Amino acid sequence: MDRRDLASRLRWWHSHNGRTAEMVAYGEEDEDGEPIFYPIPVVMVVCPTCDGRGTYVNPNIDRHGLSREDFDEDPDFAESYRNREYDVRCDHCMGSNVIPWPTEEEHIKMVEEHIGMIMEWEAEAEAERRMGA
Ligand SMILES: [Zn+2]
Repeated sequence: MDRRDLASRLRWWHSHNGRTAEMVAYGEEDEDGEPIFYPIPVVMVVCPTCDGRGTYVNPNIDRHGLSREDFDEDPDFAESYRNREYDVRCDHCMGSNVIPWPTEEEHIKMVEEHIGMIMEWEAEAEAERRMGA
């Protein structure tokens, strides 16, 4: 699994203003069936997906890794790659280089559980795809 493919789903917040973020609450709805968002205090931290660059190489280019031969056989490609011409906006921080992260222990736990759940779902979905389901 490539973490770039998960980038958009790792956005655990619904919206944020740099000091508070509204957490997406899975499975909880109000009486009208609208999803509930919890505002929690946050600080901004360097985006772990793009390491604060705001961009990354399009995963379709090097998701499965590139070898020396890939570059040797195609010097034009190698040059474009080095010049970061295949970069796309980071889908985790939306190109802003930083993401909100909770400050309170209990919220950190909530967010980590949320992310863990998404990773688990994705791992399962990928295993099923491999088995041809
Ligand atoms: Zn990012």
